[in-house]
Amino acid sequence: TIGIIAIDVNHQIRAGTSTYGLEFTIPGRVGDSPIPGAGAYADNEVGAATATGNGDIIMRYLPTLLAVEAMRVGKTPAEAAEVGIQRILKYHTHFYGAVIAVNRLGEYGVSCYGWKEFSIVISSPVKSGPNTRTETVKCL
Ligand code: ASP
Repeated sequence: TIGIIAIDVNHQIRAGTSTYGLEFTIPGRVGDSPIPGAGAYADNEVGAATATGNGDIIMRYLPTLLAVEAMRVGKTPAEAAEVGIQRILKYHTHFYGAVIAVNRLGEYGVSCYGWKEFSIVISSPVKSGPNTRTETVKCL
């Protein structure tokens, strides 16, 4: 899955996902990616989050909704992303996935589990053109 969160010059926040599904996906499987609150969620007042990983598990716990709501009550994006992952880990330890959270100021954080590390690409427009870089975080 590719999860994308964007904030435009008018402070509109949008989140989206593009996925091939999981390996050996059965016909008709939906997964988490197109489900609001599971694969992605955005609220202009707060920020947005996207998820990737084992969607059959992710879709049961709405981790991107949880992350946005955690930011609403004052968590940092990194803390909020972990709220989403921890909710899943409460019930599933055989799980792999990540949650990315971005607040309305453009601050971001990531939490992941089941992989060694997880990389994100950040792109901030500046006068000289896009400033794009990759960051890698260690998973829980
Ligand atoms: N979450 C996706 C799914 O389960 C797969 C992925 O993130 O790679 O359909």
